[in-house]
Amino acid sequence: MSERLTPIVIVGARGRMGKALLREIIISDSMVLEAAVDRSGGPGLGQDAGRLAGLHELGIVVTDELLPRRSSVVVDFSLAQATEANIRKCTEAGVPLVLGTTGLSKATRELLRAAAKEVPIVSAANFSVGVTVLTKIAGLVAHALGEQWDAELLEIHHSHKRDAPSGTALRIAKAVAKATGRDLETAMRSDRAHAHARPRERGEIGISAIRGGDSVGEHTLMFLADGERLELTHRATDRAIFARGALRAAQWVVDQEPGLYTMADVLGLGGLG
Ligand code: NAD
Repeated sequence: MSERLTPIVIVGARGRMGKALLREIIISDSMVLEAAVDRSGGPGLGQDAGRLAGLHELGIVVTDELLPRRSSVVVDFSLAQATEANIRKCTEAGVPLVLGTTGLSKATRELLRAAAKEVPIVSAANFSVGVTVLTKIAGLVAHALGEQWDAELLEIHHSHKRDAPSGTALRIAKAVAKATGRDLETAMRSDRAHAHARPRERGEIGISAIRGGDSVGEHTLMFLADGERLELTHRATDRAIFARGALRAAQWVVDQEPGLYTMADVLGLGGLG
């Protein structure tokens, strides 16, 4: 990681993630806020970014125009529909991008791959360092244990979450399936409560989802065998973990060649598993 101050441009500054990112940059001694951007006509435009984050005044107001300066990094946690325009602004300016916005269309993902030939880009649907490591070791452990160990995943999220199983649970399950030569589509069992009563089949990858309270997100991957059980658990207690992970990626990406990178690459785990 470099010693210099990395100038960061936040896109989606008024959002939940935007404010968490602003707070982390303001308290950091290795980054500096270059600009804060949100959508045209939004209520936070013209507001001081420091005040918006609930901290001291910074003298940088939220604008609706993304004009990244060379040597800065754009960190985008906004809206999928805004992503294509933001990617183009980054390639035009020759500026690296850290993209956390989810729900990207196929066309946007294609544009992202093309843009990564010109500038370095880190894109991840989950910037948590802990989840990235868990996903990576899930495959390594599954491969070492083999199919004789039954793989089951348990995930817990707050009561407002709409999708089940979580995208993160699916990614962990996919890593297990890939490492053991299984196809997740056919191996996954996420409807046991409704399924006709029958014993577990060898090779299934079970996923159980619990919803309630204010849980930011918990994932436990279990490997069960006769006489022993191995459990790998990640518990998120604060959404700031995604902001910290994304900013770690921002400080890493400034030194990279053009390319499309994952959070595993940022952590030096890209070649493993
Ligand atoms: P949010 O709705 O609280 O904030 C989104 C912000 O983007 C809003 O302030 C909105 O005004 C702004 N915005 C909308 N259109 C814009 C545009 N054209 N230009 C600039 N800003 C625009 O949402 P959130 O919870 O902060 O999440 C934002 C995105 O990040 C979502 O896609 C979410 O799924 C994703 N997310 C990713 C991770 C991760 O680790 N990758 C973690 C949390 C959230």
